[in-house]
Amino acid sequence: MSNPNYGVWRPMAENIEFNALESNSNAVMAVADTVRTTLGPKGLDKLLIDQAMNRHVSNDGVTILLSLRAIHPVSRMIVEIAERQEQLVGDGTTTAVVMAAEMIKEGKRLVKELGVHPTKVVEGIDSGVKHACQILSEEARKISLNDVTLEQVIRTSLSSKMDGQTLSSMVISAIRAVGRNAVYNGVFDFDKSIMVIRKTNIDDRIVIGVVLERKRIDPEVPMQVDGARVMIVKFDLKPVKESWLKQNSKYEEILHMENDRAAKSKQIVDNMLATGANTLLIASPEVDEVVENLLVSKKVFSVRISTEEVDYLARYTGAKPIRMIEDLKKNNILGTADRIYEDENNGVIYLENGSAKNIVTMIVSGTTKETSLERWRAAIDGINAAEAALNNGIVSGGGAAELHIIEKVKNLRLKGLEQVGLEVVTSALESIMRQILTNAGFNGLEKVMAAKASPNNFGIDIDSGKPVDMWKKGVLDPLLVKTMALQAAGEISKSVLRIDRNLAAEDLSQQAVSEIRR
Ligand code: ADP
Ligand code: MG
Repeated sequence: MSNPNYGVWRPMAENIEFNALESNSNAVMAVADTVRTTLGPKGLDKLLIDQAMNRHVSNDGVTILLSLRAIHPVSRMIVEIAERQEQLVGDGTTTAVVMAAEMIKEGKRLVKELGVHPTKVVEGIDSGVKHACQILSEEARKISLNDVTLEQVIRTSLSSKMDGQTLSSMVISAIRAVGRNAVYNGVFDFDKSIMVIRKTNIDDRIVIGVVLERKRIDPEVPMQVDGARVMIVKFDLKPVKESWLKQNSKYEEILHMENDRAAKSKQIVDNMLATGANTLLIASPEVDEVVENLLVSKKVFSVRISTEEVDYLARYTGAKPIRMIEDLKKNNILGTADRIYEDENNGVIYLENGSAKNIVTMIVSGTTKETSLERWRAAIDGINAAEAALNNGIVSGGGAAELHIIEKVKNLRLKGLEQVGLEVVTSALESIMRQILTNAGFNGLEKVMAAKASPNNFGIDIDSGKPVDMWKKGVLDPLLVKTMALQAAGEISKSVLRIDRNLAAEDLSQQAVSEIRR
């Protein structure tokens, strides 16, 4: 691009930037241009390099955006939108950014060239986005676990990723293996039932059960437990606080404390084992060495775990996490698993056949840390796409669903100039297919015209360049990814178009702002 600086913010005047719309929209384009070429199956990768010359190759919109340095404050907004898209649906970030950029470009044209007031444009965008989402929802089809379309959605979502085909197959097996065990409160929630871990030293694998990247507390305790009765410990396994020691220096007091510590530690361990537990999963913030030594000497299989792992393990084994020592007296606090063992060579612990909800772990490998990270992200994208598809249905992919609703969106009748604002939304709806095809080496605009003239759900075959029915070809996207991306793009473009000045401010930290208000 011609302006080498426009990714970095250089206020034009000391205090006020009058041409805010121009400058802000350029900033958005700069950021959008860095990721738009990754969109779709033929999208290209980016090489990220930091100051220490560390490098990372990525095709993932959010990863790229989050790693950009020193960018314009408005570009930050784009990054935040992408991040939110990632959190809400976990896929479609590039789509959101491409649409946002298109909306801002088109909105700026209306404001600058045609003199339409920004509020009219903004209201048009608002109605247009709502309407478009509504029409897309009506077009969406429901799917279920065993439909071939589920596989196709996953493959579509991973088509642009490194090793996408292998990963798709893994994701499909993992999803079918957990099946309806992943339903919580009536909706699929794979976050709760599929763990994805990355390892450079183990091959790709689907494990029915939980895999922890952990070692047991000591090599002295057995490597395996059959018929595990599992306790999850969350309370502090530290009877005496360190601070006590610092405040008291008298020998007798320390001796007394040490005896007390030993006695109390023994009491805690005895109480825990009295429940019948033979496996301890310890998430306590603090564990006294004395407690640990006692567990080792009694040869109790014990592992330190993180608070995030607690949730999975509780769901899998049925154990109720013990938060207070008094809880040890309650009934049904233990969970079970047929077998728990450590694979010492690979530094992982397997739990098999838990007695509560089924959980599957995907181990994603990679020859280097970098590739395993990229593959791990891709696998999660695929799982998210499947979840969105199962919960909310699917539409035709490759930008076809968006393209074919344009006429219907245009039929919405708004009063006055707001009608013009609709054009902003329809350009954005067209931009997805155009970008995917441009990235595949075609004349995007020409191909979009060909697709437009074809029946509903037709897009362009990415290899032959000929119009095809995306449903027949199996290129399908989750509805939710589309509607969320549209809404995100609408939000950001509305914010950017409403700004007419960028001002240099004194201090906008939370505290300073609340003081101004007072
Ligand atoms: P995002 O970050 O937005 O998810 P992706 O690079 O994953 O970006 O691209 C997703 C887009 O690529 C979707 O619109 C999807 O329909 C499209 N796509 C995937 N496979 C194909 C294909 N074979 N032909 C055309 N479009 C495809
Ligand atoms: Mg994607």
